[in-house]
Amino acid sequence: MVIDTHSHLNFKAYDNDRNEVLKKTREAGVICIDVGVNFETSKNATKLAKDNENIYASMGLHPTETKEGFDAEKYKQLAKSSNKIIAIGEVGLDYYYKPKGTAKKELFKEKQKQIFIAQLKTAQELNLPVIVHTRMAFNDTVEILKNYSLQNINYKLTGVIHCFVGTWQEAQKYLELGFYLGINGIIFKLNLDEVIKNCPLDKILVETDCPYLTPVPEGKDTRNEPIFVKHIIKKIADLQGLSFDQVAISTTQNAKKLFKIKNYEKI
Ligand SMILES: [Zn+2]
Repeated sequence: MVIDTHSHLNFKAYDNDRNEVLKKTREAGVICIDVGVNFETSKNATKLAKDNENIYASMGLHPTETKEGFDAEKYKQLAKSSNKIIAIGEVGLDYYYKPKGTAKKELFKEKQKQIFIAQLKTAQELNLPVIVHTRMAFNDTVEILKNYSLQNINYKLTGVIHCFVGTWQEAQKYLELGFYLGINGIIFKLNLDEVIKNCPLDKILVETDCPYLTPVPEGKDTRNEPIFVKHIIKKIADLQGLSFDQVAISTTQNAKKLFKIKNYEKI
């Protein structure tokens, strides 16, 4: 039993064979957190969670989707509709596809920051952890998370830095803030060995980010799926000198703890 803490089974990539993929996932004993990136996909993730015992949902507005605008009330209503929404995400900052021109760039960053902070507030109001997407935006991400915690000292902001790709120094900043690191198939493309060797096992979550980032052992033309999370577990086990089961059990416990998954008796 393992938990893929970041999947997008609600995306179009699965429209032709979603039921088959869900069946394989269930039969392999994989639990998934299906992550929304805007209101529509958050609703779809919630529906998928409602229809499948081993699926949980996360709702949020991805930084590259900010043109839609963030309506907190709509999301809060959605959260009320299902007890399987267990996180806010993915939310954060993505400066990769930035517009040209200094003024435009600043405006673009400012809007992402505002929407990110607004969603941290929603997470606080709903008492949910956050799934953070951050790309080319390390300093601003740390600053926002740190300031939010300082401004709300009676609240413990918590969550995961999904698809972590930084240095060990950067990782430590997130760990100090009480965040977990989400490790996925990108570890077969970028060298994150130092981070994985140094990171305490009780701060690691495993994920696929499927349909993207297929682990290399499955071949580069294969669409990613939750069952491929086993490759991530295997590589972490190899780097930390542990068994597959030790890493599977610990990362499952970490995910259960962070996302307060209590009622799934098969875990
Ligand atoms: Zn994602």
